Amino acid sequence: MRTFLLLLSALAFVGCQNAPITGRSQFIFVDESEVASMSASEFSKMKKLPGDKRLAKVKEIGLRIVAAARRDDKAGVLPPSSKWEFAIIDDKTPNAFAMPGGKIGFNSGMFQYAPTDDDIAVILGHEVSHVICRHGSERVSQSMGVAIAASIADEATKNSSTKTRSAWMAAVGVGAQYGILLPFSRSHESEADHLGLLFMARAGYNPDAAPAFWDRFSKIGGARPPEFLSTHPSDSTRVKQLQGWLPEARAQMPRQP
Ligand SMILES: [Zn+2]
Repeated sequence: MRTFLLLLSALAFVGCQNAPITGRSQFIFVDESEVASMSASEFSKMKKLPGDKRLAKVKEIGLRIVAAARRDDKAGVLPPSSKWEFAIIDDKTPNAFAMPGGKIGFNSGMFQYAPTDDDIAVILGHEVSHVICRHGSERVSQSMGVAIAASIADEATKNSSTKTRSAWMAAVGVGAQYGILLPFSRSHESEADHLGLLFMARAGYNPDAAPAFWDRFSKIGGARPPEFLSTHPSDSTRVKQLQGWLPEARAQMPRQP
């Protein structure tokens, strides 16, 4: 028990950081480079379409957004341009993702909902923002925190009745799922929407495309891919939030010559 408490306080000590721009305090105690190397190995196993003609476009837009985001990368999280890897994933599900370390996947099924450069910039702005905010590492840290909390509860109730023990474990488990993990996911998505909007505008794309894209995307049927699950901001909340951030984003746009 004592060891666990010591471990927890040590983790809290090293773990406090702040997200760029929003300043939200974060609890991260895993090494970003370790999460990046695990991600790279997952990414290498995915089925990609290296010959797809649209890849050059995705890469160009992605790198412009990375360059625009770098100004706010105070912690030096974003890899150098040469280290980013963009791939079109052979998957009809409309989805996209970014992994720590700069691996970006854009599903082939996403293009039909993102016909213009501005639409692709909406998606890539959101994904690059997950990377700069270290959401991947934060999520891993949260899961590890939950596992540690469960061990503490287990240790603390070792001599209690089975009933007390299971109640404790349920409290930790349920509390973790509804009290910590889900709201964090929602805040990650909102943060990625907010920063993504600023970065796409700064890279020269029209931020008005963002609320329009999400509104359109919310109307497609079928199962939602993981990046767009129901734990995420509801569609109307998302569109309203984006509209609210538009003036801030427009102010980031490069001045016309
Ligand atoms: Zn996201």
